[in-house]
Amino acid sequence: MASVKLINVNKVYDGGVHAVHDFSIDIKDKEFIVFVGPSGCGKSTTLRMIAGLEEISYGEFYIDDKLMNSAAPKDRDIAMVFQSYALYPQMTVYNNMAYALKLRKVPKEEIDRRVREAAAILKLTPYLDRKPRALSGGQRQRVALGRSIVRRPKVFLMDEPLSNLDAKLRVAMRSEIVRIHEEVGATTIYVTHDQIEAMTMASRIVVMKDGFIQQIGTPNEVYQHPANLFVAGFIGTPAMNFLYGKLQNGKFEINGCDQKINMQPAQLELLKEYEGHGLVYGVRPENLIFEQDERYERFKDASFEMKVGIVELLGDILNVHGTVGSTETIIKMPNKYSIKEGDVIRVAIESGYERFFNETTTKAITPDHCAYEEIEVTQSLDEDNVTIIDQGKKGLFSKIKSKFGKDKKN
Ligand code: ADP
Repeated sequence: MASVKLINVNKVYDGGVHAVHDFSIDIKDKEFIVFVGPSGCGKSTTLRMIAGLEEISYGEFYIDDKLMNSAAPKDRDIAMVFQSYALYPQMTVYNNMAYALKLRKVPKEEIDRRVREAAAILKLTPYLDRKPRALSGGQRQRVALGRSIVRRPKVFLMDEPLSNLDAKLRVAMRSEIVRIHEEVGATTIYVTHDQIEAMTMASRIVVMKDGFIQQIGTPNEVYQHPANLFVAGFIGTPAMNFLYGKLQNGKFEINGCDQKINMQPAQLELLKEYEGHGLVYGVRPENLIFEQDERYERFKDASFEMKVGIVELLGDILNVHGTVGSTETIIKMPNKYSIKEGDVIRVAIESGYERFFNETTTKAITPDHCAYEEIEVTQSLDEDNVTIIDQGKKGLFSKIKSKFGKDKKN
């Protein structure tokens, strides 16, 4: 299996579309990396550059520390699973999986061993003699995975492989793919626009927007410590609430109304350089506590009033939509309270879960010691002209010093 490294990889299509900007990541052997972001953010382009289906305009791409920019797709030892998995309809499941190995003239016994091994991992053994038309959607998708597994590639690339399946099957296949990844142990890069897939499957998530990496982190890191407003709004449903306002005389004044939220000493310390500056107070719907909740007393020092709009009943949970001044807000609460449109309720912010963002830059304001600050990738050439890559602080926005000594900050 393999490690994968991209350093300042860019894609500029003919016609000038700059689809991917300075994409840098160091993927360890056996990691399950998910690229997530809205349509058009450059996920597939990045994946296709890794596969060799698209040329890298500039930047460097390594597999196991070997520069692979100009290697032909077949020499990259990569298998790609697409959204539309065209199985050969006239062939059995066995032959669908064996086909690529036959083309490569792998000995028959070896093919048989690999196909049966893959079928066991994929729970396809009872179906080896069937044709694809006699399989369910999920089984067909597993055959498509099987065709990749038998090749034993160094790296698996998957481009929205579940998007053709219905919702229930998608959920089942999510955990199947995670299980298969654990059994096969291959380095995997998975592309999706679905943040739930990213959260449930990834060992690390790469959040992208407009061709730029916004954040790289574990699902927990991107959820708990989003690097900027985009990530905070994209990861998590319902999305994080954003209260726009200013810090004045030790209180957070919410725009568009005369409400002020009391601030704790640690928060004031964090925001000491931002007095009077446009700020965004971010808090997730589950961290807003309704006044009738027994925990309210504990947190009521930081509370505000909200006018209730739509109340959505989702079984055991209520999503209470409303407004604070001109800002739309959502609270998630247990379905034991009776709240209706037009009510004015008080909610407290569960401390420790709030996040602050600079309104101008949209970046999260984090303490100096926070791990999610900056990535520092230094490249240099040793005496044999081998590129040395040294990744310093783990983090998000890349401050990259290239081998030409040029400093670049995203
Ligand atoms: P995603 O996979 O995140 O939906 P893509 O990587 O497919 O995004 O596309 C990124 C950007 O590059 C989009 O603006 C898209 O229109 C553009 N793009 C994709 N393929 C081409 C191409 N062959 N020529 C020109 N622009 C392209």
